[in-house]
Amino acid sequence: MKVTKVIEWEVKETKLSDLKPFEAALLRRAIEIAKESKEKGNHPFGCLLADEQGRILMEQGNEEVTGNGNCTAHAETELMRRASQVYSKDELAKMTMYNVAEACSMCTGAMYWGNLGRTVYICRESELKRVTGADPRNPPLDLPSRAVIACGQKPMEIVGPILELEADFLALHEGYWKPSA
Ligand SMILES: [Zn+2]
Repeated sequence: MKVTKVIEWEVKETKLSDLKPFEAALLRRAIEIAKESKEKGNHPFGCLLADEQGRILMEQGNEEVTGNGNCTAHAETELMRRASQVYSKDELAKMTMYNVAEACSMCTGAMYWGNLGRTVYICRESELKRVTGADPRNPPLDLPSRAVIACGQKPMEIVGPILELEADFLALHEGYWKPSA
């Protein structure tokens, strides 16, 4: 049986000047979290959760290595797991996750199930795929987060990429992966 499903989504580069004044600092903090994660021996990814006024409620780095190989310990899935144990779905609908890179399909799924209202990301998944290649530690699933949400039954606002900050994030990945592994 052959199944075909047509999904449409739109990607539009966002400028820092399009965001609220406090949001650039939150995205830069997400890059710092990714750096801290790398310093602890984990993969260089990080994200944070903030309320509508830009107050940071939770921060989370990748924990796959210190998590003893926990394959679901991507920063965003970990953050959604923790946040959903503290905040209601109504509260999460008003919050934003600031993320260093476009979320993978697993993490986008966690955002969807947690009823997150909005996410802002810096780096394109296609760029991440270029840097990590087929490295078995992180072979990106090139399935856009907007395509995942388009298959759902409720909206989630997805903002990004933000190319002005992409090089700052990708600098953490320089020499880290083995793309042809
Ligand atoms: Zn993920």
